[in-house]
Amino acid sequence: MSCETIRNELVGFHFGIIDDGPRGEVERHLVTCAACLGEYLSVKRDVELSASVEARPRAQVKSKLRAAMAQELGLVAGPPSWWQRPLAYGLAAAAVVVAMVTMQTVAKAEPTAPVGVTRTKERSETIRQ
Ligand SMILES: [Zn+2]
Repeated sequence: MSCETIRNELVGFHFGIIDDGPRGEVERHLVTCAACLGEYLSVKRDVELSASVEARPRAQVKSKLRAAMAQELGLVAGPPSWWQRPLAYGLAAAAVVVAMVTMQTVAKAEPTAPVGVTRTKERSETIRQ
């Protein structure tokens, strides 16, 4: 591998995301090439500095970024459309009306015993006679 090829692999090498073959070549090259070793140390320093506490985004920015990414990826629903809220209220009101009508109908109906109970009563009256 040439020095330029090695330098293109240094970030992946640092994060351990290159395959074993190229990794071995980079390791062997860094042992023999002072210029690339210096470049690797520079990359390593840059990565570590960018990961330091001062350089990290604030928690508020992170949460906004996460929410934006989730919305972009379709993982969460965006803000509701103008018609969704009235539709939801309408459906809820319809459900309440149906429940009220059903309860009124049931309350006004003639009370009847369940079929099994009625048969048992008739049978016991038959036995008494
Ligand atoms: Zn080199």
